[in-house]
Amino acid sequence: MILSYAGDLLFMYDYDEDKRTWKIIAVIITIIIVSAIIGSYYMYLVMTKREDTDYVPYDGPGEYAKYYLKNDFYNEIIIEVDYMEGTMPDTGTLDYLVDLLDDVCEKNAIDYEISDEMDDSDQQVDYSIADIEQLKNKYQDYQNYMDTAVIHILFLNGYYEDSSITLGVSYHAGSCAIFKDRVDSIRIPRDARPFVSTDDFETSVVVHEVGHLLGLVNLNYDSDYSHEDKIHDSPNHCKNESCVMYYALEHSRESFRDKIYEQEDPRPPRTFGFYCMQDLEKLREEA
Ligand SMILES: [Zn+2]
Ligand SMILES: [Zn+2]
Repeated sequence: MILSYAGDLLFMYDYDEDKRTWKIIAVIITIIIVSAIIGSYYMYLVMTKREDTDYVPYDGPGEYAKYYLKNDFYNEIIIEVDYMEGTMPDTGTLDYLVDLLDDVCEKNAIDYEISDEMDDSDQQVDYSIADIEQLKNKYQDYQNYMDTAVIHILFLNGYYEDSSITLGVSYHAGSCAIFKDRVDSIRIPRDARPFVSTDDFETSVVVHEVGHLLGLVNLNYDSDYSHEDKIHDSPNHCKNESCVMYYALEHSRESFRDKIYEQEDPRPPRTFGFYCMQDLEKLREEA
C-alpha cells in the first residue's frame, strides 16, 4: 500500500521513461548518502566510546604488558636509561630490576643500558607530562623492534609539576620517569637498622613504576582478586602495604617512611606481593 503510494508520487505526473529513471537514481543516491551519514555517526560513537573513568588511553601504561610478560611478540627486553647530570641511577637498582623481570617475564634476555646524559639546557625546576614526553622523544634511542621490547626510564632532577611529593610517574605504555632528587631527599634516620639507604627507596620506586608498565594494578585487565586500593584515592595500586605496588611507594610520605623503619627489616618493599604476582601470571596466560 505504502509502496504503491510512493510509486504513484514518483510516477503519477510523469510517464517519461528518462525522467523516471533519473528520479529512481536520485532516490537511490539520497538513500546511500543518508545511510553513509548515519553509518559514520554510529562508527564515531563506537570508536570514541569510553567504558568508565578508568579508561586507559591508547599507549597508556599497561598497554605493552603482553609485550613485556609474554614471549609471543618479543623475546628480549632492553631497559634504556637516560638521565640528567647528577641523577645517574644506582647500578644496584638496575641489576635488581633485571633480576626481578627475569623472574616474571618470559624472555630469553633482559639487559639495561645507561644511555645518554641529557643536556644541562634541558633541566627544569619542575616537569609536566608534556615536558617529560619531549625529553623522551629527544633522547630515546631504542624502540620496540624485531626481537626486542624497550622499557625507557628517565632519571630527572627537580619536581613533578602536579605534586612535589611524587617520586616517579609512568606516563606511557613503555616509559616512566624517576625524580631522583626527590628520592634522594627522603631523610633516613641515623639509627636506621640495619643499612637502609636512599638507594633502597630508588630501587622500590623504579620497580613500582615498571610494575605499572607490566599492567599493575588493573591497568587493561580485571584482577581475579579485589586487591586494588580503593581507600587512598590513588587508582591502580595494591592494598598490600608490603607489596611494591602499594600507593605510598610513589610518594615521599614521612608517615609511611616512619612505619617502614618500625619493621623488623626496615627497607621499603621491592617485590610484588602474592596478588600482584597472581595478576602477572594471569596476564602471561592471556591469549
Ligand atoms: Zn604507582
Ligand atoms: Zn600487590
